Amino acid sequence: MAAKLIDGTAIAEAIQAEIAAEIVQLKAQYGLTPGLATVLVGNNHASQTYVRMKQRRCKKIGLHSIAPTLPADATQTQVEAVIHELNVDPAIHGILVQLPLPGHLDEEKILSQVSLAKDIDGFHPINIGKLAMKHRIPSFEPCTPAGIIELLDRTGIEIEGKEAVVLGRSNIVGLPVSMLLLKRNATVTICHSQTQNLPAVTRRADILIAAVGRTEMVKADWVKPGAVVIDVGSNSVDDPTAKRGYRLVGDVDFKAVKEVAGWITPSPGGVGPMTIAMLLKNTLLSAKRTAGILQ
Ligand code: NDP
Repeated sequence: MAAKLIDGTAIAEAIQAEIAAEIVQLKAQYGLTPGLATVLVGNNHASQTYVRMKQRRCKKIGLHSIAPTLPADATQTQVEAVIHELNVDPAIHGILVQLPLPGHLDEEKILSQVSLAKDIDGFHPINIGKLAMKHRIPSFEPCTPAGIIELLDRTGIEIEGKEAVVLGRSNIVGLPVSMLLLKRNATVTICHSQTQNLPAVTRRADILIAAVGRTEMVKADWVKPGAVVIDVGSNSVDDPTAKRGYRLVGDVDFKAVKEVAGWITPSPGGVGPMTIAMLLKNTLLSAKRTAGILQ
């Protein structure tokens, strides 16, 4: 059986068109343009690319965006000062600190300085705490995990009561997506580098989320026939035939797994575009709260 494709690019485009239409309305009715600040520290190439992509997307949908950039040797105090300025800037409704930060900086402290009202990445410790607790609602949900849930919802895939297995427990993907699946009443198993006999665990999954950062690790015999497979992985592998000398590959052996799964995301073209779409959606949500349209 060949799996049906979950086209993240198309779903993200649809969401962005909805956001663009809402921005037009916000501007006309309230004179308000949602604003996003992406804080970049240092010159990590991947981070620079992600920030550029986010800015381009903001421009395309009519969202105001700035990208304060600090040198790699910026001090903790300098980074925190930028966050504090953005916290009180009325033109900015969302603040994203591009991770990873250079090693000498205290990431947890910096993320905790972001105003809760502008924490559109959902990484403030209070928001993460609320995400982990029953009957608590964070101000914002982290973008990649929220994008995964949105992909499932917009494809009409039921989550409640399903057996979900998440490969990976990172603070930015594995752990928060597990919490979101739990909030949606899935039965969730979280796997990591010390999990024994991974294929036996993953074969139990109705919904399998792969977020390990290991090229094509998930094989066809790791997957229950008919399962939904979401590939978060984005790993660069050398490819002399590609323009840039490398290409991006997921954590799932797409060619083989699509013959077993019921639904599958490609990578690239699956979760990646959804991350940015959710970032824009959260910034719009924050702006609407500022305008008093939403609580
Ligand atoms: P991390 O490296 O932070 O976490 C990887 C997780 O996978 C860890 O929990 C680790 O376990 C686990 N792991 C690693 N190797 C194995 C293994 N052999 N068996 C079982 N578990 C293993 O990665 P991220 O969560 O940040 O990212 C994961 C992938 O998702 C990457 O490819 C990244 O590029 C991609 N990504 C994509 C995004 C998008 O928007 N599409 C956004 C963010 C990430 P342990 O905790 O024990 O070390």
